[in-house]
Amino acid sequence: MSHHHAPPGLGEAEFFAHDHGAAPSGGAPEASALHLSGVVLPAGEVRDLWVVDGLIRTEPVADAVTVCRGAWIMPGLVDAHCHIGLGPDGPVPDEVAENQAGTDRDAGTLLVRDAGSPIDTRWIDERDDLPRIIRAGRHIARTKRYLRNYANEIEPEELIAEVARQAVRGDGWVKLVGDWIDRESGDLGPLWPAEVAAAAIAKAHELGARVTAHCFGEESVQQLVRAGIDGIEHGTGLDADTIELMAARQVALVPTMINLENFTEFADAGQEKFPRYAAHMRDLHARRFRTLGAAVEAGVPVFAGTDAGGSIAHGLIAAEVGLLAQLGGTEFALGAASWRAREWLGAPPLAEGAWADLVVFDADPRMDVAVLAHPRLVILRGRVVRG
Ligand SMILES: [Zn+2]
Repeated sequence: MSHHHAPPGLGEAEFFAHDHGAAPSGGAPEASALHLSGVVLPAGEVRDLWVVDGLIRTEPVADAVTVCRGAWIMPGLVDAHCHIGLGPDGPVPDEVAENQAGTDRDAGTLLVRDAGSPIDTRWIDERDDLPRIIRAGRHIARTKRYLRNYANEIEPEELIAEVARQAVRGDGWVKLVGDWIDRESGDLGPLWPAEVAAAAIAKAHELGARVTAHCFGEESVQQLVRAGIDGIEHGTGLDADTIELMAARQVALVPTMINLENFTEFADAGQEKFPRYAAHMRDLHARRFRTLGAAVEAGVPVFAGTDAGGSIAHGLIAAEVGLLAQLGGTEFALGAASWRAREWLGAPPLAEGAWADLVVFDADPRMDVAVLAHPRLVILRGRVVRG
């Protein structure tokens, strides 16, 4: 451990030994009060924070254990497109889901928007040591028009009823698969007639839920944004008019940049049976930074999502932020995976009385987002869960 006495934020960060909230002898398990000192993002000012009973305090607390000085402190990371309980072949056992959530937590992801899970993960809500989850219920797709065993597969006439079911099952979001290979055209095509999608979205809104959709191609995203959808996942087929509409309505975009890196592999896999689809995927891939960069430029709210859970590993939020930084710069990318995403999802900002969900670094992530891959401390609900 270093003991330089340079001004905080300029010298080396210091981290101090602490217990992990062990039980005082004879008493009930209770986390000790913590004290953190360092540069707090996004404001960038040197501050002292205290943590008691799972909440942040901005006034000194007696007997608090100092865990860091001169560090960089951020609101907990957000993975806005993640699947807990989903594996390459569909549903996974609870132990695997627990591991997935734990891997995300150790990477600093303390809030997840689950973009569709085939299993019931409500039991995670009882676990203080696992990330908070905002669920979208189960994916809704059309019969044989998505990855096998992922979605509830239905026909368009059932869409409104299914959206109503998933709206109740989730935590305020519903996830549609917007497009997938159409065997007749041999290319990407929308799964839902536009007017049916519009009615289903209206139904979700009536029930107080927001709707988002997986869209790779051009047609589905055009139709669904005009149908009043609240979010778009991937969005590689966005055109200028649709981007303008999304910016005007503040429709969220979660591009899942690390998943887009796999588009050429998807193309290779489909080449023989669906050459049009394969060429289309290669084209979407080739211009992905231009397409999504135009959305950032236009003011579409863009958030970080890894798409972990199918074939993508959990715990890769730092890699996603690295690619988002290429798209819109460092501060943009950090906000997309922390304070801006938290605000969008209704989590409290880092302030007196807010959830003590924090990630702490020994270097300034604004200087180099690669720092995000190595959190020195992860504090969830006021307890040190990594460090
Ligand atoms: Zn996904």
